[in-house]
Amino acid sequence: MIEIRGAGPAAPEDPGPSWVGAVARGFRNRCPHCGEGRVFGRFLKVRHACEACGTELHHHRADDLPPYLVIFVVGHVVGLAVLETEMRLDDVPLWFQMTFWPAVALAMSLLLLQPAKGAVVGLQYALGMHGFAAIRRGRAAAAPGAEVQDGEGNGRDDPEGGRARGGPGDGAGLHRA
Ligand SMILES: [Zn+2]
Repeated sequence: MIEIRGAGPAAPEDPGPSWVGAVARGFRNRCPHCGEGRVFGRFLKVRHACEACGTELHHHRADDLPPYLVIFVVGHVVGLAVLETEMRLDDVPLWFQMTFWPAVALAMSLLLLQPAKGAVVGLQYALGMHGFAAIRRGRAAAAPGAEVQDGEGNGRDDPEGGRARGGPGDGAGLHRA
């Protein structure tokens, strides 16, 4: 249960991917940790753990952010396209506008939803948010004498980690500043 680093006893000082790399891996339905295993078991069902490296993926709390991002992008693209069509083309039949653009919006949404969620999972992994902080801490602990250093964590790991783990003495009074 506490087995977080599937890499095993090796991998003493793995800095992990950059946050851009982790987001890109998630966007491509790849594990943000190793880039090999898949994030999703079904359409939007995140696997419990990576099938390749064993990194636990169930820590993610993507929640409503992926659909929000998808709505933001699709709304702007389709909305602009509708307006441009109306302004630039004459005699576009109403039935076309009322059927074509909703279909485009639906197709774009379905295509973007999984990549968006994967990217959010990758971002949460890269920032060490929620239970992912334990992975970062475990990696730092594996490197003796090293503080939590992960390139681009910006020290954000500490309050998040304390909050997520709920360890004794920390976390309780350490709400987000
Ligand atoms: Zn993996």
